[in-house]
Amino acid sequence: MSRGLIILDAGHGEFGNPYPVIEGAYEGTRNFVLAGYLKTALEAKGFEVKLTRNAIEDDPSLEERGRMAGDNDAILFLSLHSNAPGSATPPEKYKDIKGVLVIYSLSDEENNLPIALAFGNAVAACMDTENRGAITRTYPDQPGIDYYGVLRHSVASGCTCAFIIEHGFHTNLDDAAFLNNDACMAKLAEAEADVIDKLFGV
Ligand SMILES: [Zn+2]
Repeated sequence: MSRGLIILDAGHGEFGNPYPVIEGAYEGTRNFVLAGYLKTALEAKGFEVKLTRNAIEDDPSLEERGRMAGDNDAILFLSLHSNAPGSATPPEKYKDIKGVLVIYSLSDEENNLPIALAFGNAVAACMDTENRGAITRTYPDQPGIDYYGVLRHSVASGCTCAFIIEHGFHTNLDDAAFLNNDACMAKLAEAEADVIDKLFGV
């Protein structure tokens, strides 16, 4: 019997967000690779998994991605990304910024915060990079509503257990080199599956 259904969302499309520090590497491709390893790892632990992208070239809308959670009665919606500094950061500083950040849906702070912290700790340890903690972000002028579209649509469809993991910065050479290595991605998937194994479907 399944321990519950998990939606894995590999962020962006195949050529979304080229890595500035590794020619030919793309965030959208590497997120897809990680989702594949994580699906295998979770299925081995007895979870059912659906992907928002079944083919690498798929690039559904944020609403379609998020809605898959509630529409399939998922116990967890997990969106997989890597990070880049915002426009407030001058480009010459990009290469020095690294580390893991987890964004969790503010719709269920009590349940989601400890899960977000567990993901952050596990991913930062596995990647041997900084841990930038766990945050929520509110939609401007709409208290109680998540800023990020996939979280917002997951919640609107009925799944409040929704997270974005920013697996380091693809603008930093150390983080990017890890993410561009398939063996490292497989290790990362195991670390994340262990967190889910402990916290879900018991
Ligand atoms: Zn992203």
